[in-house]
Amino acid sequence: MAKVWVFTEVSADGTPAPSALELLTKARSLGDAEAVALGPGATASAAALGAHGASTVHASDDPVFTDHLSQPAAHALHALVERHRPNLILFASTHDSRDVAGRLQARTGSALMSNATDVVSPDLARTAIAGGSQLVDVALEGPVPRLILVRPKSFAAEPSGGTAAMVPVDVEIPEELRRARRLERHEETASGPKLEEARVVVAGGRGLQDAQNFALLHELAAALGNAAVGASRAVVDAGWIAYSHQVGQTGKTVKPEVYLAFGISGALQHVVGMKGAKRIVAINKDPDAPIFRLADLGVVGDALQVLPALIAEVKARRV
Ligand SMILES: Cc1cc2nc3c(=O)[nH]c(=O)nc-3n(C[C@H](O)[C@H](O)[C@H](O)COP(=O)(O)OP(=O)(O)OC[C@H]3O[C@@H](n4cnc5c(N)ncnc54)[C@H](O)[C@@H]3O)c2cc1C
Repeated sequence: MAKVWVFTEVSADGTPAPSALELLTKARSLGDAEAVALGPGATASAAALGAHGASTVHASDDPVFTDHLSQPAAHALHALVERHRPNLILFASTHDSRDVAGRLQARTGSALMSNATDVVSPDLARTAIAGGSQLVDVALEGPVPRLILVRPKSFAAEPSGGTAAMVPVDVEIPEELRRARRLERHEETASGPKLEEARVVVAGGRGLQDAQNFALLHELAAALGNAAVGASRAVVDAGWIAYSHQVGQTGKTVKPEVYLAFGISGALQHVVGMKGAKRIVAINKDPDAPIFRLADLGVVGDALQVLPALIAEVKARRV
């Protein structure tokens, strides 16, 4: 049976990143799933990882993995790979995991695939090309372990009810890998649910005309509850809203119950990040806008008129 590992990011309180639970759910369908968790909180994360299918959790609470950049993690992971010879390692497409995966690849010479949307078998993964318009299966060859960076929300996290054996990671981290130290860490302050986890996403594009009009989207999200604000790349590039709100090929993938697109044309690179929404509502003044091709409900009209009317209606119904 293939040994499939999931590189797991953890919070200091022992909460594994939601992406790790998604990847473990997939990993256990491919073979014997194990997790590698490095940094404070790793040991405490073993219960949640086991409950999502990890038979073993290789864990170290050593702060060296969070105090320094990814060199110590890549070094420890490489040592574990040499010892245990997994067939495949799945990584979430986060900044830290991408860094670790790249450094590991340089040591193992394995095939490293990024931007995967599915893993078909331990040596075959799927990705979208041509702006998300086509899916291709990619065969991974060469030495094991094969390394795959998976887009978030590619799989739903489902508990398996299992428990994991916890194996402490015992790897000496050389001094020269501790030279780059993380001095500060800034968490973006945001109210409301995370974009990737919200039940409803209200997103805006260039059709909103002005950065200030994004206040209307925030007001609608607050009125709806469990809703987050998304955006097209055009408005992120224009500086109207932070990159963390960007949905699409070079932004986040969201799969909410409802996605409302205000003044977004529906370019392929945007659509690839939101087409998994259960229901899509588009508001655009151009009846030929491509977004209407995938919308369940389309409103041809001025977003700046529809938004205040919708906010008033939602507020009236919530009273
Ligand atoms: C490599 C690459 C990666 C990319 N990655 C992403 C990505 O991750 N996410 C992303 O979004 N884009 C991405 N793009 C950019 C993408 O191709 C589009 O340029 C972008 O999505 C367009 O944003 P938009 O819909 O806001 O703007 P536009 O395409 O300019 O559309 C504006 C829409 O608003 C409508 N409109 C105008 N006024 C009003 C009004 N008053 N009321 C209602 N509607 C109105 C117009 O009819 C139009 O349909 C990428 C491009 C490349 C090349």
